[in-house]
Amino acid sequence: MKPFTFKATTHSTAPASIGKPVGSAVMEAVIDEPGPVEVDTVGTDWEANLSGLLNLKHPKAVAAGLKERKEPIKIYTHVVRHPAHGFFLVDTGVSQRLVEDPTGVGVGFMLKKYGGIDKMNPRPSTAQVIEAQGVPLAGVFMTHLHLDHVSGFPDIPLDVPVYTGADEAEARLFLNAVAQGTNNHLLEGRPPLQELQFERDPDGKLAGVNDVFGDGSFFAILTPGHTIGHLSFLARTPDGAVLMTGDVSHTRWGWENDVEPGTFLAERDASRESLLALKALSKRHPKMDVRLGHQA
Ligand SMILES: [Zn+2]
Repeated sequence: MKPFTFKATTHSTAPASIGKPVGSAVMEAVIDEPGPVEVDTVGTDWEANLSGLLNLKHPKAVAAGLKERKEPIKIYTHVVRHPAHGFFLVDTGVSQRLVEDPTGVGVGFMLKKYGGIDKMNPRPSTAQVIEAQGVPLAGVFMTHLHLDHVSGFPDIPLDVPVYTGADEAEARLFLNAVAQGTNNHLLEGRPPLQELQFERDPDGKLAGVNDVFGDGSFFAILTPGHTIGHLSFLARTPDGAVLMTGDVSHTRWGWENDVEPGTFLAERDASRESLLALKALSKRHPKMDVRLGHQA
């Protein structure tokens, strides 16, 4: 255990009841074929310091003259519909209640002050996104447990299963000193976090892949770095593959220039490796629709 570090949450965890680890080759053999899953990406406006979103010390960022500034970005929730398994979200969007009354939903003082909640704009709110589907929410897949990804939890019914990467809850960071209490409050009364399981990729192309529904339609990809258990997701839709990178890349510029995120990450080398691994995946499958962490 690292001293002076804190878990992302002390909420209980359990191995996920769904999903099976597969090699990247198993996924890549099918992802250029149309599939049955539909994905609608819903974004709400936010802003953050560019130095957090992008490594401004990277030679390419220096050469491009990028400087610290407030960067307009989005907070996304992805609506994922599977014909047999129902309707899921990837990340949680933003709840109106969280923005109106952060203390009331359990956001700690430090996060309230520095977490940028006053700049969050829940239009549409997560409650509206869920209601528009007209059917109950079957589950939530989390890329990771940072405030701008858990910000919709006050709108999510308490009995809905929540899936994360293995060790995401246990990831120890000093930053979690401010996040742990908030995550615990937002998860209070919910079942244990279900951790999707991964095995080493025999081809070494990705850190690990999980066939979530066991039918080759929706995959979780282990992409550590931003957080230890960070996940990206890939859905096979009638129009082709959709890759949801999560915070492997927050920005369009970072994705196009192979520059990893700035200060908002746990491990820089791992974060860069995950970015390059997803870039390589997208080059092997150029028709794939890539949806980034915080920019279109
Ligand atoms: Zn984020």
